[in-house]
Amino acid sequence: MATYDTQVLLQHLNDKWHGVKCPLCQADKWNVSDNVFELRQFNQGNMIIGGVPIVPVIPVTCSNCGNTVLVNALMTKAITPPTNKEA
Ligand SMILES: [Zn+2]
Repeated sequence: MATYDTQVLLQHLNDKWHGVKCPLCQADKWNVSDNVFELRQFNQGNMIIGGVPIVPVIPVTCSNCGNTVLVNALMTKAITPPTNKEA
């Protein structure tokens, strides 16, 4: 069970990628993660909860070589933007 709308993501990839092959190995089979991950602003190794920019990403991995593309989950509209301005 994915934690985001996989149909929206797949439609986004179909619209934007047009069946693109992996740029590293030329395979054409991608796997999308079931989960959304986040890129957190680096802060000299100190973990700060809240108040720092976070980029939600969905890993899309080449099933042949493992090359992984991080797609911004907000741009795909597969998740709804957070409404909490503190987050
Ligand atoms: Zn590949």
